[in-house]
Parts: sequence; structure tokens; C-alpha cells
Amino acid sequence: TRGTIVREITAETLRGLPLPDSGGGSKEARGSALVIAGSVEVPGAAILAGTAALRAGAGKLQMSIAAGTAPHAGLAVPEALVVRLPEGEGGHVDHGQAAEVLLPRTERAAAVLIGAGMSSGEPTRALTAALLEGPSEAPFVLDAASIDGLCEKAQAVRARAGRVVITPHAGEMARCLGCERDAVEADPLAAARKAADMLGAVVVMKGAETWIVDPAGGTWHYAGGGAGLATSGSGDVLAGIIVGLLARGTTPAEAAAWGVFLHGEAGRRLARSCGPIGFLARELPGEVPGLMRDVA
Ligand code: AMP
Ligand code: MG
Repeated sequence: TRGTIVREITAETLRGLPLPDSGGGSKEARGSALVIAGSVEVPGAAILAGTAALRAGAGKLQMSIAAGTAPHAGLAVPEALVVRLPEGEGGHVDHGQAAEVLLPRTERAAAVLIGAGMSSGEPTRALTAALLEGPSEAPFVLDAASIDGLCEKAQAVRARAGRVVITPHAGEMARCLGCERDAVEADPLAAARKAADMLGAVVVMKGAETWIVDPAGGTWHYAGGGAGLATSGSGDVLAGIIVGLLARGTTPAEAAAWGVFLHGEAGRRLARSCGPIGFLARELPGEVPGLMRDVA
């Protein structure tokens, strides 16, 4: 059974877990990140997560977005290849058709993010399940609405054998486990362990401090990057950093630990340069390359 040792995430502990090298300067070697994120209400989530994936060193970025918003997203992130998703009613993505468009892309991607800024409800759950059950062997990051009800579909996650990272806050963890939010907040580490056991996935239990549980045995703790990180879009950036690190070939548990650290330290740097609250989620990714250099 799992030990009770909890490792603190610091620059020093991460120095012992170096990131993969730069892939001999080839963008193919640093991998293509596929970011399936955003919605009619929150199209910017795809931009935040996609930018963060590139800032974390992914070689290439593919971003999927509702067809009507795709040109705008493509111009906001000129580095990205934009995948247009067919729209149904009200400009909302038709998730059944979206699965057909996305499945072959998940096979070619080095890492896949699903959920940041997507609408909660059955269509997102069904799309998440369809992609999880698909043939891709890439590691997946599941965020936000993609985490809802996941423990009911534990087998689809378990089948990915440790190649899934989930990034819930307390409310999302409660909806994942089917329990009350209060119970998660009372003991977030216990909730993270329970989800890691059920899903066989790396769990990033977010909050003012963050716990990471690796189903293979390790537990990590990060003390937090400051209250300024409690801001719209902050979690989308974290999910994007993690998928970017995975695209480079970082293992899921190490991508989670590094991602939480880089996101938190980016918050600390912005607190110093800008002010403790009021910096924007979109400003976090720009801090990441320098932080990676300074840790290494
Ligand atoms: P989300 O709720 O998905 O936008 O994610 C918010 C991100 O900010 C997570 O990485 C949290 O760990 C972090 N965060 C939220 N509140 C705080 C806080 N009070 N102090 C430090 N980090 C926080
Ligand atoms: Mg979030």
C-alpha cells in the first residue's frame, strides 16, 4: 500500500526530476499538444491553455474550437493549428460530430487536454468518454467539466494505465466522487487518494495549497503561489502547462508536480512585479520559460 511520505514541491526537489531535454532542437521531438477546450461562453479558455502549453515547451499546438470562433482563436494564438468543430444549436459544438473530428487527432498528438472552459453537462461527459475510449495512447489531462462524474466511468480512465492526469478544484472533485464539497474541503488529501485509487490517474487536487497523488505511490504537496492565482482562467493555464510538459515526454506524475510548481511560482513572480492580486491569467504563461531555466 501507499506510504505516508509526502514530498514538498520546491525548486530543489524538482532539480532531482529534470525535464526532458530540448529534443535536439526539433519541434517534432518536443511533441504536439492537442488542446480541446473552451466553449461559446468561454472561448478564451482554449487560448489560455494553448498558450501555456507552448510556453511549457511543447513543439506544436493544435487547438479545437467551435467553427464560428475558430478564426478569432487562430488569430489570438498565431502559433496554433486550429481544429474547427461542427456547430449545432446556438453555436454550441455538436459533441457527437466533434468526437469524429477529434479522434484521429488524438492519435497523432503527443498529449491531449480536454475540458478547460467547456460547458458542464452530458455532452462534455460523452465527448470525454468517447476520446478516453478511443485508440490514442497519448497521455490525457482532464480538467473542469471533463472531471464531472468521472468515477462512474472509472474503467475508461483505468484502461489508460496511469496516462491520465486530472486537475479538479474542490467542487469538481466532489462531482467526480459523488460526494459533498464540504467533505472534500475537510480532507482534500483523502479525496485525492480516493480518486487516484478509483481512477488509476494522477490527481492534482487544487486549492490554496495543492496535493498531487500518483496512483503508483507518490504524494506531493505544494504550499501555493498566493491568492492572486484565485482568478478566472488560472486553472486553464495550469492544465495547459501540464499538457505542454506531457507533450515533451515528461511522465504524468512529474508533469503534474512541475506544472503545479511553474504555475504557482509564476503567480509569485507576478505578485512581486505587478501586485499580489489583479494580475491576469493570461500573464502567467510568459513567466514559465524563465522559471524552467532558473530551476534547471
Ligand atoms: P481554477 O479553480 O480551476 O481556476 O484553478 C485555480 C488555480 O489557482 C489552481 O491551480 C489553484 O491551486 C490556484 N489557487 C486557487 N486559489 C488559490 C489561493 N487562494 N492561493 C493560491 N493558489 C490558489
Ligand atoms: Mg478550472
